[in-house]
Amino acid sequence: MPQNRSSKKRNNRSPYLFILLVLALLTAALIFGARAMNTWKVYEAEAATTPVPTPTVTSVSVTPDPFRATPVPTPEPTPAPSPTPGLLNAGSQGEAVKELQKRLQELGYYTGQIDGDYGTGTKAAVQTFQKLNGLDADGIAGQKTQGVLYSDAAKAAPGPTDVLADNGIPLLVNAKNPLPDGFSPANLVQVKDIAGNLMTYEKSDMQGVREAVEALARMIQDAVNDGCAPWKLRESYRTIADQTRIFNNRVSSYMNENDITRSQAIARTRQSVADPGSSEHHTGLAFDLNVPGESFGDTAQYLWLKSHCWDYGFIMRYTDEKSDITGIIGEEWHVRYVGREHSLKMRDMDMCLEEYVEWLKKQ
Ligand SMILES: [Zn+2]
Repeated sequence: MPQNRSSKKRNNRSPYLFILLVLALLTAALIFGARAMNTWKVYEAEAATTPVPTPTVTSVSVTPDPFRATPVPTPEPTPAPSPTPGLLNAGSQGEAVKELQKRLQELGYYTGQIDGDYGTGTKAAVQTFQKLNGLDADGIAGQKTQGVLYSDAAKAAPGPTDVLADNGIPLLVNAKNPLPDGFSPANLVQVKDIAGNLMTYEKSDMQGVREAVEALARMIQDAVNDGCAPWKLRESYRTIADQTRIFNNRVSSYMNENDITRSQAIARTRQSVADPGSSEHHTGLAFDLNVPGESFGDTAQYLWLKSHCWDYGFIMRYTDEKSDITGIIGEEWHVRYVGREHSLKMRDMDMCLEEYVEWLKKQ
């Protein structure tokens, strides 16, 4: 009977062993399967983003890296040097603002003083930086803006630019396409040095880009030869700092004249003065012509200019007919140099610069 007993015992034990064995096998299969699935997912994710010429799923022993399955689109910006970048805004003061101004200056956005005062200049520089770096252009240096600003991914402002050769496309400047604070055109010359006494001048030191000034002088010379005179140059190249001053002066005078809020005054100023950075005069390619003592739109000079400017590479930049597109009401005195290759096409196709640039990009 003991033998029987022991054999019975053995018989009783074997089902447990069998279950254990099955469980062990199942666990192994699960781990194996999960690993294989992960590896396949990683491969699939990679195949979806980057085409692999010869895809080889090698062995299951590859450790699946969960981060590879979700490709990160942009690298994390390096955090600001200050321990925790606090929100900086108009009115902020101190060392953090100085750091901000230094960095903006380094990148070519800020030309003012490093005084630790978050004023309009600093705000404008932050806004331009934000616009050119794909951020919300609210002029507030929050964590996101500072994150990009202090990172290696921060885009610098373009330096002195040859405004005439922008990939064969004339430079478009408007409210939606502002120039950065540090922008300055190359090859600026004094208009008077080239055009001499063909015109009178609002100021003696007025400047423009050489090629445009030379074309302007040729054009006015021909007008004078046609008996169409006199001419006065009222406005030419204007720096962004100049524009900021003009803009702020206008805002102040509206506020002094009327009992209105600052934001109301700004809205009213925008009807006649471009925001700093968004005036065509920053390019050195735009000129405002004038006949002393007369409204330009009523003069023979205007009629001459309207029919001939195209032959010299100029366009009538702002007309009433296109004001819906340009966002600016007719300015018959304002001509813009784009070069003859473009001005003639624009005349023949009856396109304003916004339309023409759009058309060129599709070609
Ligand atoms: Zn103008």
